[in-house]
Amino acid sequence: MTKYIFVTGGVLSSLGKGITAASVGTLLKHAGKNVGMLKIDPYINVDPGTMSPLEHGEVFVTKDGAETDLDIGNYERFLDKSFLKTSNFTTGQVYSSVIERERAGGYLGQTIQVVPHIVGEIVKRIKEAGEGHDILVVELGGTVGDIEGLPFMEAIRQMKHDEEVAGTFFVHVTLIPYIKAAGEMKSKPTQHSVQELRRIGITPQMIIARSENALPKTFKKKLAMSCDVSPDSVVEALDAATIYDVPMSFLRQNILKPIAKELELGEVAPDMQEWDSLVKKIVQPKGKVVIGFVGKYLALKESYKSLTEALIHAGAHLDSRVEICWVDSEEIEERGAQTLLNDCDGILVAGGFGNRGVEGKIQAIEYARVNKIPYLGICLGMQLTLVEYARNVLGLEGANSIEFDENTPHPMIYLIDNFLDQSGGMQLRTHQSPMGGTLRLGEYPCDTKEGSLLRQAYNGQKTIYERHRHRYEANPAYREQLENAGMIVTGESNGLIETVEIQGHPWFLGVQFHPEFTSRLQTPNPSILAFVNASLNAE
Ligand code: GLN
Repeated sequence: MTKYIFVTGGVLSSLGKGITAASVGTLLKHAGKNVGMLKIDPYINVDPGTMSPLEHGEVFVTKDGAETDLDIGNYERFLDKSFLKTSNFTTGQVYSSVIERERAGGYLGQTIQVVPHIVGEIVKRIKEAGEGHDILVVELGGTVGDIEGLPFMEAIRQMKHDEEVAGTFFVHVTLIPYIKAAGEMKSKPTQHSVQELRRIGITPQMIIARSENALPKTFKKKLAMSCDVSPDSVVEALDAATIYDVPMSFLRQNILKPIAKELELGEVAPDMQEWDSLVKKIVQPKGKVVIGFVGKYLALKESYKSLTEALIHAGAHLDSRVEICWVDSEEIEERGAQTLLNDCDGILVAGGFGNRGVEGKIQAIEYARVNKIPYLGICLGMQLTLVEYARNVLGLEGANSIEFDENTPHPMIYLIDNFLDQSGGMQLRTHQSPMGGTLRLGEYPCDTKEGSLLRQAYNGQKTIYERHRHRYEANPAYREQLENAGMIVTGESNGLIETVEIQGHPWFLGVQFHPEFTSRLQTPNPSILAFVNASLNAE
């Protein structure tokens, strides 16, 4: 039977509940426990797949092809473990399944209500996510007091008394503001937030206090007293030099002691040695490398969360600080690639959807190709390498992806559906997107070519597994022409072109998959690691 740790948030959002949950999970994992993670999102969207990156940040894709909240990415990066679609659900999914069951006659005769039906569905889903684990850490999105959070609060309250539940522990993450004029830290917002939780029937057993300054002992005591938790259950969460130091900081405060006591976990002594040495390399690295990051969602850097984290992982393993030079692809269109990318050791063009900034990305690719600067193109950043090569090397005027020009005379990149039509009924695990069109999502195998940068990056592995999220594919009709001119296909999956490289270029790789989704602090993604390494060693 599974034990559950519930993490709720109070006072305001953006307190780092996801990192808190991931850190607790990480410590328990390193203490030998089999830990599962679950993020509950109270919003109505079925998943974040259709939300703008500027609205919601990154959409994280799981191995089994679910489009999930970016916190699932944090969980995977911290716990070094792949989670599946069961690790994230939303109000939209809960209501959809209840309504579907109702239409199918599943509740014949009953009036369908929030309590017990919606709450029951939530409990069922939490238990499903917990199956097979010693402990499930559940992060509840939003803040205590949100209207849409209520059914979830009720569900986790009920689980306290559930016979199928081996134990529950409630953690509440709040903010301790510091009022400069008064020179004082304030506990009142936390007290109110805890009172609100109690009104719903939940008494938190631990307070994680986000604060800019260390909490004096007397303040901690007062907070413990007013929130009715034991003094060793007030854990401070100060701004950290890196998010990966949060588990270490929690460990120094002995966070597992009260949890282990309540959940009867016995002796818990996490082995965090390797983790700690990586954290030290992030905080005080020996070397430095500058990566030009060409993208278009720069107003919200969270849109590239997995990628920026993957660069940090690579840096930690190379004992180097990866400095990101953010370059807006639209600005390249105005000011030229040379001006903006001159000081970069390596150039990375990230994925994206829609026309805006595409020509700037193409200019960045040309600049990296001609000047022999290490280059990594991801998804759209790979598709556009073919477009650039077609236009500037093959001389195919007007070459494009049909995403940007439906009537292009040279569709270097075309719809997956076109590929499937020509492939004689090949089975590809694709998903119908609610926006229309077919999206290729989740993990697929990719066969690597002997002697390629790709195979080298993955330590000689013949088949690698990476995740996807795209609607368009490289058009195989142009393969021969490209290869004859020096752009070689080095990775393929069932006839699909997965990666390309350029002969004679020191390090140039375009990948249709998203390598950033499988990068973890302890096991960085091989293509990103090899790219950062090439940039570090570039003349
Ligand atoms: N827009 C492109 C496609 O749908 C690339 C997507 C991406 O970069 N994730 O295929």
